[in-house]
Amino acid sequence: MTKPSADSAAPSHTPMMQQYFALKSQHTDKLLFYRMGDFYELFYDDAEKAARLLDITLTTRGQSAGAPVRMAGIPFHAVEQYLAKLVKLGESAAICEQVGDPAASKGPVERQVVRVVTPGTLTDAALLDDKTDNRLLALVFQQGVLGIAWLSLASGEFVVQETRAEHCLSELERLRPAEILVADNARLAVLEQVRAPIKRLPPWQFERASASERLARHFAVQDLAGFGAQDLGPAIGAAGALLEYARATQGSQLPHLDTLRVETSSQYIQLDAATRRNLELTETIRGEAAPTLFSLLDHCATSLGSRLLRHWLHHPLRDHARIRARLDAVEALLPAHEPVLAALRPVADIERIASRIALRSARPRDLSALRDSLLALPALHPLLAELNTPLLVQLAGQIPAQSPVAALLAQAVAPEPASQLRDGGVLADGYDAELDQLRALQTDAGSYLLELEAREKARTGISTLKVGFNAVHGFYIEVSKAQDAKVPDDYRRRQTLKNAERYITPELKTFEDKALSAKDRALAREKALYEALLEQLLPHISDLRLTAQAVAGLDVLATFARHAASRQYVKPTLGQAPALDIRAGRHPVVEAQVDRFIANDCQLGAARKLLLITGPNMGGKSTYMRQTALLTLLAHCGGFVPADSAHFGPIDRIFTRIGASDDLAGGRSTFMVEMTETANILNNASEQALVLMDEVGRGTSTFDGLALAMAIARSLIEKNRSYTLFATHYFEMTRLAQDYPSVANVHLSAVEHQDKIVFLHHVEDGPASQSYGLQVAALAGVPGTVIRQARRYLAQLENQAASQHAQPDLFAAPLPEPIAEPDPLLGRLAELDIDALSPREALALLYDVREQARNALGNGGNLPL
Ligand code: ADP
Repeated sequence: MTKPSADSAAPSHTPMMQQYFALKSQHTDKLLFYRMGDFYELFYDDAEKAARLLDITLTTRGQSAGAPVRMAGIPFHAVEQYLAKLVKLGESAAICEQVGDPAASKGPVERQVVRVVTPGTLTDAALLDDKTDNRLLALVFQQGVLGIAWLSLASGEFVVQETRAEHCLSELERLRPAEILVADNARLAVLEQVRAPIKRLPPWQFERASASERLARHFAVQDLAGFGAQDLGPAIGAAGALLEYARATQGSQLPHLDTLRVETSSQYIQLDAATRRNLELTETIRGEAAPTLFSLLDHCATSLGSRLLRHWLHHPLRDHARIRARLDAVEALLPAHEPVLAALRPVADIERIASRIALRSARPRDLSALRDSLLALPALHPLLAELNTPLLVQLAGQIPAQSPVAALLAQAVAPEPASQLRDGGVLADGYDAELDQLRALQTDAGSYLLELEAREKARTGISTLKVGFNAVHGFYIEVSKAQDAKVPDDYRRRQTLKNAERYITPELKTFEDKALSAKDRALAREKALYEALLEQLLPHISDLRLTAQAVAGLDVLATFARHAASRQYVKPTLGQAPALDIRAGRHPVVEAQVDRFIANDCQLGAARKLLLITGPNMGGKSTYMRQTALLTLLAHCGGFVPADSAHFGPIDRIFTRIGASDDLAGGRSTFMVEMTETANILNNASEQALVLMDEVGRGTSTFDGLALAMAIARSLIEKNRSYTLFATHYFEMTRLAQDYPSVANVHLSAVEHQDKIVFLHHVEDGPASQSYGLQVAALAGVPGTVIRQARRYLAQLENQAASQHAQPDLFAAPLPEPIAEPDPLLGRLAELDIDALSPREALALLYDVREQARNALGNGGNLPL
């Protein structure tokens, strides 16, 4: 490493580099962006790293401590895009600005780190994805209990939860944090499997007692009982560390984090990490954004709605009363969804704007967007007035008919403010008398200048004389060259043009100084007014967040209504008796992709708990199973579902064991992944769980696989008694229906037509009559010779089974030797009558056979010796 002496006080460093090292020593784990004029510079190792990550040029300049200084710089106005790139890569940055007055300072201008940007603490609109929450999360493990706390600085959400330690991975999959905080002495194997950057902090920051005090102080409460959090242990430690970290990055007290929400895992239908991926809720198995349930449903009018929809899909409710409230609201919105969505469309991201106001980083256009949104919102009231469901009434109540914030902003902010405060023109005319005066000094220049022009014309007798202004040279009096002789003595030349000269007079100069300083003073005044305005908005942050929540809720409910209306989704019903009964259900995502989707029933209940699904590959087994899970999930989010009818008893979890994926990074083979997921299901699935098992046992040898699949199914039937859809290609398993009344066979139908297979995608009672494996292989383009060979195998296997009076159990028979097509060469040799050959004929034959052999080997006669 070529790092210069770490001793920042070493006299041989230039004063500026000494200042740099002092700042850097407080931010060793981040890239330090050091402001120099119009650039942010990075030095030494930071420069090298930034050059590599950001593709910017690494240079050296000057010398400090006897060595050239390696540096890389980016223009200040482009900083956001570089920061966005860095945080995507999991890096953090400390932004250091010049805070002193360059004119007044001896030596380097005073500088301070004013902002720290880390992946989990973003609030700037330019760095955030509109449709995804950006969460910072902290974890504490204590005696088998996992304490989690997470917050979103951009939205003001702050939540704590405790659960069993083994749920860690599924919780991380649910919450998808952008950054994770843990104590640096915590040894957590699960963290090796997560993608988010991990920040390790001193263990004392996670200590419960001090954390609890810190939180109480932040919320200005006696203790945490008011939040229902008094009995939590490790989660409070996590929340304390989280708050401290977030504050340090923002250099602010975070007033918008105004409440702590305690979440319990029993509120939601639990989905483990594999299930969230397998069901492709918000991301496909390959990690793409579409097609997923979210991409299909997200026609929300606002980004507030999109984020809430994403959240709801990952948090299906268990409480029937809450689900019914949403379903009733969707039903009521059926005839009104279009105007409601239209009224929501102009609404900006109120939630994030409120957070930026609290953090004092709101930009002028945040404020004008907030004003326009708040002024647009009352249009919803007449639309909602007729819709009297309790939830809609509550949401409408959170939308103010007359917002004091809107009134204030309408007065204070210009109709279309500049995007940057430093450009001026942000505050409205008439809001502040002093500002108006300063602005008048600039704009009223017009009448003064006209008057001056008239006066000068009279004085000099130059009738073509003109008074004007340009940005480079300032004010001038222009006289054509022909009139040169008439120019008075007090005119000073300012600029020479082709046919004219431009002059300034002492009087005009005095005016210019006044006008230009008015501009600076107006800017300073505007800045002060803007700060004060943000201050005035602070008490309204909580109300704004309530309004934002109402907008988001209405948006999602109206979007559900829109799908219900346009795609014939129905309102599901809920009851206390065990049931999962879907009539003519459709897979929402596949339905949107195929010309004609075949609807299917799925009926499960107390007496019918496991469906054993057989049928050809490509027959639609996976689609059928996933659609059952997706409809169950969507119904529990409060959405209507693609079916003729759907009814559900209590459901507590959804498990899936679908598809094969190697977890090579985690060092687990396909089969190991399959069995780990299966173990999780067998150990945790209750009678109220929905379990999907797709082709379990496929990853190992036939006998092992069948044996395991059989035992797993029996355990699910006898012990777990969950609602189970069990797809298998082991035909033997269909016999389970004879042993257990709660098991039913169903199959996906297909027919053969002119030697080709046609999938009907229809679920019918009973086991499949055949597996159509060869037909599917042929359809996939496996060569005809291989298919014919397989046919011969199959015939032989079937004969063998029949002759042994064996059950139709393919796997009981030993596998036969391969049967080869007779080789024509061998055939020819076998038929040879050697004794009848003359030596000459024998030799000719030998040449001939060799030729034939070479051709058969396809080697053009060039056999190696
Ligand atoms: P399997 O799991 O039996 O191999 P899949 O469920 O993957 O079969 O289905 C294969 C394809 O068949 C799907 O990609 C889809 O295009 C189509 N498909 C499945 N079910 C249906 C259905 N009910 N209606 C129409 N097409 C379907």
